[in-house]
Order: sequence, then C-alpha cells, then structure tokens
Amino acid sequence: MPNTPSTPGLAAGRLPAEAIAENFADLHPPLTPHEAAVAADRCYFCHDAPCITACPTSIDIPLFIRQIATGTPEAAAKTIFEQNILGGMCARVCPTETLCEEACVREAAEGEPVQIGRLQRFATDALMAKPHPFARAPETGKRVAVVGAGPAGLACAHRLAMKGHAVTIYDAKPKPGGLNEYGIAAYKTVGEFAQAEVEWLLGIGGIGIINGKRLGADLSLDALKAEYDAVFLGIGLAGVNALGIEGAEDAVAFIAALRQAEDKTALPVGRNVVVIGGGMTAVDAAVQAKKLGAETVTLAYRRGREKMNASRWEQDLAATSGVRILANAAPKGRAEGGIVLAMTADGPEGLKETGETITLEADQILAAIGQKLDAAFGLATEGGKIAVTGAGRTSLSGVWAGGDCATGGDDLTVTAVAEGRDAAEDIHATLTS
Ligand SMILES: Cc1cc2nc3c(=O)[nH]c(=O)nc-3n(C[C@H](O)[C@H](O)[C@H](O)COP(=O)(O)OP(=O)(O)OC[C@H]3O[C@@H](n4cnc5c(N)ncnc54)[C@H](O)[C@@H]3O)c2cc1C
Ligand code: SF4
Repeated sequence: MPNTPSTPGLAAGRLPAEAIAENFADLHPPLTPHEAAVAADRCYFCHDAPCITACPTSIDIPLFIRQIATGTPEAAAKTIFEQNILGGMCARVCPTETLCEEACVREAAEGEPVQIGRLQRFATDALMAKPHPFARAPETGKRVAVVGAGPAGLACAHRLAMKGHAVTIYDAKPKPGGLNEYGIAAYKTVGEFAQAEVEWLLGIGGIGIINGKRLGADLSLDALKAEYDAVFLGIGLAGVNALGIEGAEDAVAFIAALRQAEDKTALPVGRNVVVIGGGMTAVDAAVQAKKLGAETVTLAYRRGREKMNASRWEQDLAATSGVRILANAAPKGRAEGGIVLAMTADGPEGLKETGETITLEADQILAAIGQKLDAAFGLATEGGKIAVTGAGRTSLSGVWAGGDCATGGDDLTVTAVAEGRDAAEDIHATLTS
C-alpha cells in the first residue's frame, strides 16, 4: 500500500509524484511581457525614490522599470546587474515585502506596491538567456583568493574580475552557490537556477572555482595570504545552534537534502512535524515539510508572533500552506512520540514561562534557531561574527570579509551581495593605490 500523509512515523512518498511536483513549482512564476508592461505602468518613477534607499544594493529601480516600460528589458537588466550581479537570484528570494516594496509609495498610498521583485525577474531572465554582458578591464597581474562561493564570495569575485584581477574561489562544498544552492527554499529557485546563475556569472572570465577545499582543513589563512595579493572571506555561518532536545534535526540540513534530492518522493518526512524557530529558515522548513506530505506541521516560536523574524508575508505563506503557527511556546523536552512545549508570556521583565505546558505528537522535530560562525581563523570577532570596519576590512591587513560571516549585515542574500561587491571595490582601491 502506498504511503499517505497519515502513515505513522517517518515515511517517503506520502504524496504522488505529480502532487509533489505541483507543490514545489515556482512560487512566483515569471510575468508575461504584457503583465510586465502593466506592472511597470504602475510606477510613478519617483524622484528620490524610497525603493532605491530600501534596496541594500541600491539598484536604480525607477530607471530599470522605465526601461521595461519602454520595451528594453535587457537594458533594464544591465541597470540591475551593474549594482547586483546576483540580481536574478535576488529577484526570486528577496523579502521585497520588507525592503523595496514596503518602501514603495504605492504601498503607502494603496496597500499595493509596484511588483518590483517580479519586474526584476522579468528583466534579468531576459538578459541571462544571452551571453555575459560585462567585459573585463585589462589584466592587472594581481591575484585574489576568495573563500566561500556563496552570494558574498561570488559578488566579490565578479567585481574583482571586472577590474582585471585574477580570482580563485575556494569552497568547502562540492557545488558553488552557498545557501543559494543548499539553503533557499526549493519553490523559490526552481530548475537548477543557482548553478545556472553561477555559470552565467563566470562568463566574465578571470575566475576559477575550486570546490571541496575547506579553510582550516585543506587551506590556511597564512598560506593564502602568502600566495595572493588579497584574501576575501565569505564563509557564511556554517555552525548550527544546538536545541538541546533529543532527536531534533537541523532544519538547514533538512532543507539542503531537499534541495539536492533528485527525487523528492524518496525523501522521508514525519507524519507530525514540529519546527522550532521563528525566522525564514523555520518557515521554509515547515512549508517544505508540508509540501512533502506531512499530515500536520506546527511551527512553535517561543515569543509572540509580532516578534518573529519571518515577515508577515512569510507567516501568511506558512498559514496558507497548512502550517499551524504556535506562538509563545518554547521547547521543554521530549515526551513519548512527541515534544513538550512550555507556554510563555512576554512581560516587562522579559520572557517567562506561564507554568502551562502542551504536548504535541512529533515524528520529526526540526530546529531552526539560527546558525553561527564555525571558526574565525584568528581574526577579531564581535557578537559571534568576524569584526569588520569600512567595506569589510578585518583585523588582519590584506584580509577582507563580508556576508553572513561578518558584522554589520542582516543575513539576507542581497546584503551579502552588497558587502561582497563593496569589499571588492575596497580591495581594488588598495591593490591599485
Ligand atoms: C534555510 C535558509 C533559507 C534562507 N532563505 C533566504 C531567502 O529566502 N531570502 C534571503 O534573502 N535570504 C535567505 N537566507 C539567508 C541567505 O541565504 C544568506 O544571507 C546568504 O546566503 C549569505 O551569503 P554568504 O555568501 O555570506 O554565505 P553562504 O551563502 O552561507 O555561503 C558561504 C559559503 O562558504 C563556504 N564555506 C564555509 N566555511 C568554509 C570554509 N571553512 N572553507 C571553505 N568554504 C567555506 C560554504 O560552503 C558556502 O558555500 C536563508 C538562509 C537559510 C539558512
Ligand atoms: S517607490 Fe514605487 S512608485 Fe516610486 S519609483 Fe519606486 S517602485 Fe516606482
């Protein structure tokens, strides 16, 4: 008998293959040319546009929307890529509802922003179907090592290559892309887009990627410093915060397995899944568990709903996907076949347990309570991240850092891109001064 959502324990193939394929289809399908023209027409092309200020990479949004409106989407894409070479991925994964679209004057006036993210995708898809649009400056003879092939490392490498430097990227994982490849929810980036984007980005030339090399094991910072003119670290947050609940799995590892699976019907998922956490990772893990066919998925968050890091839009996505959000519920321990949660209240003296507990059935518990820096390689740290000043300068001369591993960001793809790009500009200025 085939498995169903109510098959007890952990089981694969709870839904037929067609249902799973439909569940994991593109969350925001591309706009047609007509839809894009209508969406672009809603832009006021504001002077001092607040959407630009709200974008961590400062894309000239009214300019690219005007370029779409005048029928030149490829010019629009060039406007985007000049600021954000991973504009294709950002169009798919940016929480626009808390960035550019939240700031859009049409959101304030009518509660309906211009669809900036989807317009960005329309433009970038058009140009990414063509050969790489940027050319390199003449070779400078300088060599830079980039550690980490995630958004920060890739953006840094591309900008350095454009300036004529020779870049080698080292990454511990078998594939490049960082969390674009191993973390982002499958329905946000369908069809191997992360690898296609890396390929397209490498079209600039002058960048080599060496996978399967881990700083701290196969490479040392001293050796890289000796061999290269500069080093950029974009190593993300590879460590996981432990939940302390027996049998709990890391939600990021669950998502990575899902992203790498050739056949999602072969992935086991619990009948009753409990996800602990309140951020984007928690929502992504919960929604994907439900899409794989779990019968019940509960997202338990220890504080009130308004304190969740996941945006209201993401919370709604969870709810409409059939995930129950249980706020003010903190994990306390295991029960036979389940998990005990202590109810909490947020008062003036902080978070307190009320004394009430509830027990939920749980065949699978996923912990999404944040990642942490794996190692700092002797560099100064602050608040658990590599301390940087200016455009990513670390405590060690000749070594820059950016993205999730460095202080100052907000752990978003677009911010990692901005920091990688800005560090590259600073490295270039240093190497050529
Ligand atoms: C599950 C999940 C879902 C997310 N969803 C979204 C989303 O929808 N939208 C959004 O904007 N943001 C999202 N984020 C956040 C976003 O993915 C990160 O902010 C972004 O990827 C950070 O980029 P980065 O380059 O700094 O690090 P990463 O993407 O983490 O890349 C770091 C790279 O460094 C490599 N590395 C690590 N240590 C070493 C070492 N010692 N030696 C060599 N290589 C090493 C890793 O293998 C990796 O390839 C999500 C994060 C997670 C965990
Ligand atoms: S704020 Fe909205 S209307 Fe104004 S330029 Fe930006 S996208 Fe257009």
